[in-house]
Amino acid sequence: MKITEHIDHRNGRTLFSFELLPPLKGENFESISQTIDPLIEFNPASIDVTYHREEIVYKEREDGLLEKRTVRKRPGTVGISAAIKFKYNIDVVPHLICGGFTREETENALIDLYFLGIHNLLLIRGDNPAGEKAFKPEPDGNHYALELVKQAMNMNRGIYLEDDIVNANPTGFCIGVAGYPEKHPEAPNMAADILHLKEKIEAGASYIVTQMFFDNAAFFRFEKACREAGINVPIIPGLKPLSTKSQLSALPKTFSIDLPEALFREADKCSTNHQIRELGVEWAIAQSRELIKAGVPVLHFYTMGKSDNIRKIAEAVF
Ligand code: FAD
Repeated sequence: MKITEHIDHRNGRTLFSFELLPPLKGENFESISQTIDPLIEFNPASIDVTYHREEIVYKEREDGLLEKRTVRKRPGTVGISAAIKFKYNIDVVPHLICGGFTREETENALIDLYFLGIHNLLLIRGDNPAGEKAFKPEPDGNHYALELVKQAMNMNRGIYLEDDIVNANPTGFCIGVAGYPEKHPEAPNMAADILHLKEKIEAGASYIVTQMFFDNAAFFRFEKACREAGINVPIIPGLKPLSTKSQLSALPKTFSIDLPEALFREADKCSTNHQIRELGVEWAIAQSRELIKAGVPVLHFYTMGKSDNIRKIAEAVF
């Protein structure tokens, strides 16, 4: 089923979904079953699988010099999405990015996904590989998520890159895109960011999933601004429970988000990561309860590969 159909048929309930990372190269399906299995009883509407592009690493050679190598540590988004769908009979939402793909490679990836019966996608731009200052598309690759949405929507109309393909079967992808309650770090201001978000919706995206946030007020402000800008599709809040002390500085730096003062004060009192993990669960339960009360269609959780804390939250709120 498409994500929009899940939302349409929810009868006022807030649905549960979560996001996983594909296993590290060399690991097997078991490594992600361990994340999924504890959450199955909460009846997830869908499971997202992130996409990870190549990274640049430096390996020390025998002569002591450093060698620059390009590696993909977590390939397999398409394969693992299909494996989850067939093993658990749950809808999957693979993420597909602009970075590292020519438009032809994107088209081929979309064809593979469609043949596998995967009809939901989250289309994002992706970030620049670590060490590179700005995002650079492949020659003939998509630059913004907007272009990726347009390409998938063309396929939904039976339009492929080669114009001698006529009477092609239209695909039927349901497309989600990313939104940022605290603004995408590169956007000059919130209004500009929301304008670009609106372009993705006008191009055919059917719903928005947000970046993580720890202050619901930021989500409600963002939702209001989207509605005022004429964005009327479902907006799904993305939540990540705090789980280690190092995240107090890592999350704001990596995702350009703020941690509320009250959360920081409580986290500062914690002396172990176990205490932080418990606090993270408590905070996320309070956030979830308020969001459910406000009628959000889905609560989407970032697992980062571990689900014991998400399970505690799901037990409390679903
Ligand atoms: P875009 O919508 O293309 O926007 C990027 C920036 O460009 C924004 O500042 C926007 O305002 C601006 N912009 C857009 N259009 C224009 C235009 N026409 N002219 C000028 N500026 C413009 N990354 C991964 O690598 N893999 C994942 O699986 C992944 N999953 C994610 C899931 C979610 C829910 C979220 C919120 C993020 C995810 N990301 C993932 C991170 C994402 O790739 C980055 O945040 C990336 O920097 C932006 O992606 P986007 O799709 O929002 O980009």
